[in-house]
Amino acid sequence: MAQNTTIPDEELADYDEELDNQNDEDIQEPKVDASYATLATSSFKDFMLKKELMKAIEDAGFEHPSEVQHEAIPKAIQGNDMIVQAKSGMGKTAVFVITTLQLIQPQEGVVDTLVICHTREMAFQISSEFERFKKYCNNVKIGVVYGGVPFHESRRIITQEKPNILIGTPGRINHLLTDGSLKLNSLKRFVIDECDNMLLQNDMRKQVQNIFIQTPHNKQVMMFSATISQESKVICRKFTKNAKEIFIDDKKLTLHGLVQHYVKLEEKQKNRKLTDLLDALDFNQVVIFVKTKQRAMQLNRLLQECAFPSICIHSDMSQVERLDLFKKFKNYEHRILISTNLFGRGVDIERVNIVINYDMPQDSDEYLHRVGRAGRFGTKGLAITFISLNEEQAILDKIQERFKVKVTELPNEIQASTYM
Ligand code: ADP
Repeated sequence: MAQNTTIPDEELADYDEELDNQNDEDIQEPKVDASYATLATSSFKDFMLKKELMKAIEDAGFEHPSEVQHEAIPKAIQGNDMIVQAKSGMGKTAVFVITTLQLIQPQEGVVDTLVICHTREMAFQISSEFERFKKYCNNVKIGVVYGGVPFHESRRIITQEKPNILIGTPGRINHLLTDGSLKLNSLKRFVIDECDNMLLQNDMRKQVQNIFIQTPHNKQVMMFSATISQESKVICRKFTKNAKEIFIDDKKLTLHGLVQHYVKLEEKQKNRKLTDLLDALDFNQVVIFVKTKQRAMQLNRLLQECAFPSICIHSDMSQVERLDLFKKFKNYEHRILISTNLFGRGVDIERVNIVINYDMPQDSDEYLHRVGRAGRFGTKGLAITFISLNEEQAILDKIQERFKVKVTELPNEIQASTYM
């Protein structure tokens, strides 16, 4: 169980730079886990939530809490610190969104809850989830800040919109603190999403620590990730006090509902195979993962030339353009997205039912994060991985061993009913 508490001073590195311009692709991708069992017998009513919140939950169409929600929400709404791990797509976001909205007593001009996450798209996605559930909590204001947009815009959000719940990336939050526009001295809740990713990397951790020390000692700290290694667990515990630790199916890493195949081919055959697949498969939305931005751009050009209406998103694009494309994809205005690992983690797009690894992920963690884009929240999905090198076969073997799954060769014909 969690022990103590505050971070020893010597571990609190000085904050000395703003990493707003940090390339999201440089962020190391760790790992994921869990099972999809929703607990059909349990109900959100069991949590005795306030009626404004219950109404919004009903509007969102959530009938039963997922396993992680069932385990975590009752403990979190008692004010406990939390360290929570569950596979992506299990509804971890709703755990801290519902908890925060249940507990918050908004005061004009006071930031009550801070949520830190690693990319701007995640910040936007989390803020949308807050907006959805706070629908009937009229007096709660949400703000979202991240790098890549003019600083004065973030400052305006803080000083003029005065959010009670603030979501942001660490670089921008730090900058706002240094600038003096943001004060966190009345903070009640500190949430770190994808905490292993945030805390294992030195630069990010320094930034998170610097924010952390500017918040009151007495607050609720909640940390979430799809994967929390032993090493990051130790670090998470330094930020929390007697945290309730919830690890859903840590040992049984499964990818329920996901049909997984590979295709062995040479590099030069990939484009042909991809266009054949896009022609042949039934998909709502598909995400195609490649290893570099250059490859993403090239492939996007090629697909468009072949009359596939694809888009690509990478970290060299302006923030406005990136977010605009992301929103359009989320709203189903585009159906084919080419991405680097920038989108490999955490991003939730309901209608994606096919993931294609045009380039093999570097390891089994990355594989799990990427294919987790399909089949969110227990829906079905299909993952197809291209293998062109011997070492890629070794990675696939590892994936099969780790997730106790048989990834088979792509058959000539595949029934849409198995993944739709
Ligand atoms: P995670 O943070 O664990 O990766 P998300 O919070 O992004 O997962 O949830 C994945 C999707 O499942 C989201 O679209 C979310 O709205 C939906 N979802 C979450 N909880 C429930 C629930 N209890 N019932 C139905 N849908 C849910």
